[in-house]
Amino acid sequence: MDKQQIENIRKDFPILEEKIYNKDLIYFDNGATTQKPRCVVEKIEQAYYHLNANIHRGVHFLSQKATEAHEDARTTVAEFLHAAKREEIIFTRGTTEAINLVAYSFGEAFCKAGDEIIVSVLEHHSNIVPWQMLCERKGMKLQVIPMNESGELNVEAYKALINEHTKLVSVAHVSNVLGTVNPVAEIIKIAHQSNVLVLIDGAQAVPHIPVNVVELDADFYVFSAHKIYGPTGIGVLYGKETWLNQMPPYQGGGEMIATVSFEKTTYNELPFKFEAGTPDYVGSTALAEALRYVQNIGIENIAAYEHELTTYATQRLLEIEGMRIIGTAKEKSAVISFLVGNIHPYDIGMLLDKLGIAVRTGHHCAQPLIDSLGILGTVRASFAFYNTKEEIDIFITALKKVVQMLE
Ligand code: PLP
Repeated sequence: MDKQQIENIRKDFPILEEKIYNKDLIYFDNGATTQKPRCVVEKIEQAYYHLNANIHRGVHFLSQKATEAHEDARTTVAEFLHAAKREEIIFTRGTTEAINLVAYSFGEAFCKAGDEIIVSVLEHHSNIVPWQMLCERKGMKLQVIPMNESGELNVEAYKALINEHTKLVSVAHVSNVLGTVNPVAEIIKIAHQSNVLVLIDGAQAVPHIPVNVVELDADFYVFSAHKIYGPTGIGVLYGKETWLNQMPPYQGGGEMIATVSFEKTTYNELPFKFEAGTPDYVGSTALAEALRYVQNIGIENIAAYEHELTTYATQRLLEIEGMRIIGTAKEKSAVISFLVGNIHPYDIGMLLDKLGIAVRTGHHCAQPLIDSLGILGTVRASFAFYNTKEEIDIFITALKKVVQMLE
């Protein structure tokens, strides 16, 4: 993507014009959440002003229109992930709820005492804790794939962890701390050779790299709308129909039922079985708009441009004495974690903020990973396609100043 294209894209994101302490905002916290293009915010406004009615229930015009928009959004998501069927797309509150849904429902349907779940050392808490809770509930064991010094998963160690008790493997597509792009296709293939299912946490992948759930052969794939330029409070669980059909509902309530009596309730078919209560039909419509926005730019173009940005930022960071990049995998996405000398990451983050630069500091909801690295946390800069090399230059100048002050 050329300079003019990025300039035009930036105009779609009004927040990028904000001044922070009288400085131009430089937003490098895209891993936590992305900013929203005007079309997404307008879609929300339009839905509330012109389309608002509870869905799936009404015979009236507005309800039918809102239902159509919500179900069209499901189709857009299915196409975005290249899912075989739109019924395999379940709307959730986000990645976290999607993983909890699978941990609960898959656990109820398929797991018993003595079974094992495999995660990796670099997971976000939301891909650890739901599985720990399942293990506690059922008397199961959690196994952990280790990584090497660069932050790449050890595939041989992973193979050795799979045994006759293994029920499911759940790993991130992209690490939110190290930026490592995990070899998920290989991980899935290995699991399937032993009839083990795989969930891929795509929270940090879908905004940056093309995803095809059928080609990957993922059994479950999850992501959050807010990390891909969509609204907060909605996300997606993709699941293969065959598994979702065998899993019990996660929550009970309206929408998810076929018939209810005090003696017996029967459940609705997919995808509604997993969508109890009034869904976020405004959120789904806005998510679909965000996905169309991303598709218009082209996910391959985004991946190439962000790779350029990340490579440039890495080179420039290494100019700084005492710089330690945490996570140097060969395959990396648009995330750079780093430390400088003995300076506390929080101090760097706080001073950068005063210069208008938003980065994240701390354990990034991945405490076991941070502990395994023997550090307190990192400073994390994570990029989006609206970021520029000029912003990186300003960031580097600011960082040099901050380091000088703190040393
Ligand atoms: N998984 C990964 C890899 C993440 O980076 C995050 C959020 O940072 C999550 C899961 C949780 O996403 P959410 O809080 O939107 O549910």
